[in-house]
Amino acid sequence: MKILVTNDDGIASPGLWALAESLRPVGDVVVVAPDREQSGVGSSVTLHHPVRIAPAAALHDGIEAYAIEGTPGDCVILATETLVKGPIDLLVSGINGGANLGNDVFVSGTVGAAFHGYFRGIPSIALSVTALNDLHFDVAARLAFLLASQVKEGALPKRLLMNVNVPNKPLDQLKGVQATRLANGSYTEVVTEGKDPRRTYYWINRTRPAWTLEAGTDIWAVKNDYISITPLDNDVTAHSILPRMEELKLAIEAGLRVGSPQESPKPGS
Ligand code: MN
Repeated sequence: MKILVTNDDGIASPGLWALAESLRPVGDVVVVAPDREQSGVGSSVTLHHPVRIAPAAALHDGIEAYAIEGTPGDCVILATETLVKGPIDLLVSGINGGANLGNDVFVSGTVGAAFHGYFRGIPSIALSVTALNDLHFDVAARLAFLLASQVKEGALPKRLLMNVNVPNKPLDQLKGVQATRLANGSYTEVVTEGKDPRRTYYWINRTRPAWTLEAGTDIWAVKNDYISITPLDNDVTAHSILPRMEELKLAIEAGLRVGSPQESPKPGS
């Protein structure tokens, strides 16, 4: 069992190494992580300059590790294409400091890395603890071990992407585990303007909560002291709106046939 461990908090993040240690009893762990914090870069890929790789095994005894001058997505691509010999059986991304809930799955580098594993047919797990300070990784690390063991036993679908969020509390303060759907919402942006000696600058912070608490969602689960496990897939097609698009198609095609972009379609044309 070959396990790829990555993250978006960077190679020096304690959550990464707590995760790598927890997975050692399950299989051969290879750590391929960004050389610095890359939170919020989503599934982005570096295409406009070369990406460098530095061995980083010295950071932790006995675990093969590489620091990548790039995004979490780059880490997964380089791991699968060049660094890791043979197939990868599981990818785990984390343990992230900070929740990745609701719409944040489209922004999160933690989940972005897991998407790249999923795109390649590797069972993939994104794992986050829902706090930024005084983080406790023990419950999340134990959970990673249990989930990885399930994958190893073949108990889960091969085509698998799980987004897991763990409240930052001791085990005896957690109520259990919920299988959830994504909430419609997330923390959204607050823009702060300031002046440096030369120009105006803007800080974008994702600190404004914008959601409604609906039972069964990931945000609801962690707010109620449950571990949240959301299975994801890559189909974000709005199936309910597809029939309306079919109608729209006819109107657009009629408009295109009229000719000049400024001209409106004539009635009945
Ligand atoms: Mn992060």
